[in-house]
Amino acid sequence: MDTEQNVQQNQAAPQAPVAAAQPEAAQKFCKHCGGKIPADAVVCTLCGRQVEEMGAAATPNIVINNSNQNVNTNTVNAYMQAKARNKWVAVLLCFFLGGFGAHKFYEGKTGMGILYLFTLGLCGIGVLIDFISLLFKPNPYYV
Ligand SMILES: [Zn+2]
Repeated sequence: MDTEQNVQQNQAAPQAPVAAAQPEAAQKFCKHCGGKIPADAVVCTLCGRQVEEMGAAATPNIVINNSNQNVNTNTVNAYMQAKARNKWVAVLLCFFLGGFGAHKFYEGKTGMGILYLFTLGLCGIGVLIDFISLLFKPNPYYV
């Protein structure tokens, strides 16, 4: 089912009542500072801020190379760094081979795996804690 709905397209455009909006001498008011500026001005002559869209500008003198192609590489990196692990594989490994650190090796934590291997899963306590915590993890979980 397509539950996509147009949720309230209510874009209230605040129309500021301009007192004297006669286009005498082709002037307009800056929406930032309220100053009187030429109608064809793209950037306010008083405060210097942009008052018109670049496309609608009559004077295409100012070219702002504003590339909005902001590729979100952080998401990709985070996705690649987080490795998905099957919860039940880890649970079974922990249960049967936890004393050898098998679930730690499975998670890619080699150091912890070796530690478990030589201490029999931290005398079983580490395995027990890992086993319980694994049960509460989502499937798949990320390490
Ligand atoms: Zn201004």
